[in-house]
Amino acid sequence: MGWLENYPRAYYDKYEQVDVKNHGDWYQVYRLPGRVYAIAEPQQLQEVNAFLIIGEEAALLLDTGMGIVPIEPLVRELYQGPVLTVNSHAHFDHIGCNHQFASVHVLDCDYARRIAARGLNYEDVAGELAEECFQFGPPAGFVPEQYRVPPYDIVPIEDGHVFRLGGRNIRVIATGGHCQDHLCLYDENEHILFTGDLAYFGAMFANFDNELFGTSDLQRYTEQMQRLDRALPQDAVCCVSHNDPVLSRNDFHTIAEAFAEVCRREAAGESGNSAPAGMGFDFGEEGKQPNIYTFDGFSIYTRGSEQEAE
Ligand SMILES: [Zn+2]
Repeated sequence: MGWLENYPRAYYDKYEQVDVKNHGDWYQVYRLPGRVYAIAEPQQLQEVNAFLIIGEEAALLLDTGMGIVPIEPLVRELYQGPVLTVNSHAHFDHIGCNHQFASVHVLDCDYARRIAARGLNYEDVAGELAEECFQFGPPAGFVPEQYRVPPYDIVPIEDGHVFRLGGRNIRVIATGGHCQDHLCLYDENEHILFTGDLAYFGAMFANFDNELFGTSDLQRYTEQMQRLDRALPQDAVCCVSHNDPVLSRNDFHTIAEAFAEVCRREAAGESGNSAPAGMGFDFGEEGKQPNIYTFDGFSIYTRGSEQEAE
């Protein structure tokens, strides 16, 4: 029924799964090193991950998932103290339960403000809620046509903002690239980079240019990847927002180099293959198929060299 023949994914075997009462048949929670929980939604095509980062006095929730099943009761079950919430960016698969929290920290820019004020409607996300985007069909009680992300309250933050969780400082790194408001988090105590959608094993997108998804910038994307790659200590690990929740330091370097290669190829007038139309990938400029560059274990979508030159 779903898009995966081999469900569940083998990489989950690497992590300790946490038994949860609240919606454990939709969310899967994994305990990662350094007091971090990955909250995964493996039954939907995006295979998105939210993260709960635990300090001595507070916890930080990075993203709120698809909005298909409420995440707040699960977060409350995992941590009973004060919870701050932050978005890696304002795409649908990261903001779905924002409205269940009093406010959400977002990188201050027009795009993030617009999505917060507007919320999302079924029509915005309908392609992601089709039967074939669910491994086992929509979960009980979820009616796709009634999907909606209500507007939510934001706390605008800037590059360099530090979340102090008690014995644990998490710094905001504004990156853009994927879209204007994209941010990464860096855990200065545990040397964990939370990459958001900047880097993971899967399809990475630098091809957006519309009202709902904002505007990608391949050049900026690549510069930020290179900058992070230079700054990351050798013992760092990455927590990433799609698919396998953990990426090694070395994998991050490989992906950063791939972006540099794509940039060089497009600057030289080359382009990748035209991406096939398909599930989840039609979020670029209307009527234009993105270019795709395929690497070992991941791929990069761009608007293509012709449009970059315009
Ligand atoms: Zn995403």
